[in-house]
Amino acid sequence: MTLRTLLADTLNGHRLTEEEAAFLFSVTGTDVYDLFIAADKICRRKNGDRITFVRNQNIHITNICKNLCNFCGFGKAKKSLDAYQLGEEEIKKQIRDAKERGVTEICFLSGVHPDFTLETYIQFMTWVHEIHPQVHIHAFSPDEVDYVARKADIPTTKALKILMEAGLGTLQGTAAEILVDDVRKTICPAKVKSDVWERIAREAHGLGLRSTATIMYGTTESYLDRANHLNRIRSIQDDTGGFTEMVLLSFIHYKTPLFERGLVKTGPTGRDDLVTTAVCRLFLDNFDHIQVSWPKLGIKLTQMTLLAGADDLAGTMYLDDVTGEAGGGGTEEYLDPSEMEHICSDIGRTLVERTTLYAKFE
Ligand code: SF4
Repeated sequence: MTLRTLLADTLNGHRLTEEEAAFLFSVTGTDVYDLFIAADKICRRKNGDRITFVRNQNIHITNICKNLCNFCGFGKAKKSLDAYQLGEEEIKKQIRDAKERGVTEICFLSGVHPDFTLETYIQFMTWVHEIHPQVHIHAFSPDEVDYVARKADIPTTKALKILMEAGLGTLQGTAAEILVDDVRKTICPAKVKSDVWERIAREAHGLGLRSTATIMYGTTESYLDRANHLNRIRSIQDDTGGFTEMVLLSFIHYKTPLFERGLVKTGPTGRDDLVTTAVCRLFLDNFDHIQVSWPKLGIKLTQMTLLAGADDLAGTMYLDDVTGEAGGGGTEEYLDPSEMEHICSDIGRTLVERTTLYAKFE
């Protein structure tokens, strides 16, 4: 089958197989433009000319992490000289800042601190709701849920219910990385296995707690591993419909153990970032939204992903220590909506502010 036939069939409703997706990931030369055009057509069928963003703020409570993943430059051991943990006053100050900025979503993006418990997470959410009651809390990965549930000696469904009752709005789809255990052994051996991540995502969706899905690509995985990952995510979505969007996380290699130990030479190239965006858009026919991460790609490459299948610019952020600590350059702290507006209008698209669950503020 040729690339053109495969893309034409996909535009006519053919559901890509894993092998076909692996083939698409490998496309090079000017053929990549055919791929981008097909992905852009599907994107516009679903979203028109709209590009969305959410006014959000990250709070990095701690970089102390039990997992110390090999692809991460952010997580630190408790005894590390670079380890930090914000105190109550600093966390509350950041929540007050978020309120003053008109932020509609607060994300906790932290290490999985070995001493944190379910009660710790409830405490953080209580502070948020005391200060900014209307804000949506987007927090905690399946790995974090698994960890605090095991510490509390309760099933993960019960932990999820407790977190929901304490005000959790949506679960983070992080810790998925690539849901292939052979890859996880190299890049994140201490994290939950693929089956556990999937089970917790399904449990959350079953309880009515929606989540993002993520792919962290460009480490040691093969194109077929990436396709296996996407297939797993697509199957969950077929059954639950609980994912709000697929979030693409391009590996930033500079200050990571994988790079320092010579296990990777570099992170993904610009071709790979754009092609991966397009393949995600084409493969995930049951997703409305594909989100790109401007702190990881930079503003200029991010703009090009909006012509290759992506329709969501994520958030204003205000802080992204995870990318900064891995050596990602550029403006990883804050992206003003006026700059988002500029990169959208420059390609003939319209920027629209959304809520976490994609309600629009037109
Ligand atoms: S990716 Fe997350 S879990 Fe892994 S070391 Fe970094 S902060 Fe910890």
